[in-house]
Amino acid sequence: MQNSYILLNRRQFMAGTAVAALGMLSAPAILRAQGELNLYSSRHYDTDEALYTDFTKATGIAINRIDAKAEELIERMKAEGKNSPADVFISVDAGNIERANEENLLQPVQSEILTSRIPSYLRHPDGSWFGFSKRARIIVVSKDRMDTKEVPTYESLAVETMMGKVLIRSSSNIYNQSLMGSIIAADGAESAEAWAKGLVANMARTPKGGDTDQIKAVAAGEGDVAVVNSYYLGKMINSKNQDERDDAAKVTLVFPNQSDRGTHVNISGGGVARHAPNKDAAVKFLEYLVSDKAQQYFAAGNTEYPVVKDVPLPSPLDTFGSFKEDTIDAQKYASLNAEAVRIMDRAGWK
Ligand code: FE
Repeated sequence: MQNSYILLNRRQFMAGTAVAALGMLSAPAILRAQGELNLYSSRHYDTDEALYTDFTKATGIAINRIDAKAEELIERMKAEGKNSPADVFISVDAGNIERANEENLLQPVQSEILTSRIPSYLRHPDGSWFGFSKRARIIVVSKDRMDTKEVPTYESLAVETMMGKVLIRSSSNIYNQSLMGSIIAADGAESAEAWAKGLVANMARTPKGGDTDQIKAVAAGEGDVAVVNSYYLGKMINSKNQDERDDAAKVTLVFPNQSDRGTHVNISGGGVARHAPNKDAAVKFLEYLVSDKAQQYFAAGNTEYPVVKDVPLPSPLDTFGSFKEDTIDAQKYASLNAEAVRIMDRAGWK
């Protein structure tokens, strides 16, 4: 019995070797036979390319990619309906991804690999989407003009002594909407609105520009503190542009709320499309994204934190130090989006 079992395995092994040899002779034909995957992505980082090539090499599944902004991809998938070729939707910010889910464009996935590798607060409870990297919404502080001890929390940005010092981008931005959602969840809607009003009163200027512009404005002395996603500071520190590196050297960072709920973290992630024609390949791709190697690439592509434990951090995040994260479900603050926007509007946050 035992012998025949071994023999069978040897036969299988020999058959596998023959296939591998064939593969070397006619790789394209074999690759095609292994299927394909249609990826709708609003991520467009150079290292993502290496990620896709590596997946195709490992599985033989070719990736066809459509790159566009999250809103455009969502509109496109809605218009395509049941005929949509989309297999996987990838975007940034749980707010955007949950929006796709609320439009019924994603489907739940059961995968032991995904649920065991990704902490539960960084994925939808039904498996409709998963976070594959994370970003912290940090406070950046002028080294010369402010002590980091003055701004230990998001809440501290709204106290009177901060008048005229705070830089933050528009409320139309999804990152601020998600942060607002997390503050509603932590402090309640009433306190969240009082916070937003205090923040607006303390703004150094009417919100303009992206997160990088807020860091540059701190360096230029337009304000003393800014709220930004961690990767923007990381990218400025790594920048090829000397001016950007000089600006980054003028600031330091605070991970807010370390003595209570922790710093707000958001994700880059995605899920399987509702009408995915290649569902098996789609799940395989998501599972591949949580492998140690893919995690490194995926996070490094945008100077983000991997979601899988013990995967090395990209530079310069390894110099930022460890911090306590707000472990509220990303789905929870994302689903508070509409209320967050109403509160920001009422507070006069432009
Ligand atoms: Fe961004």
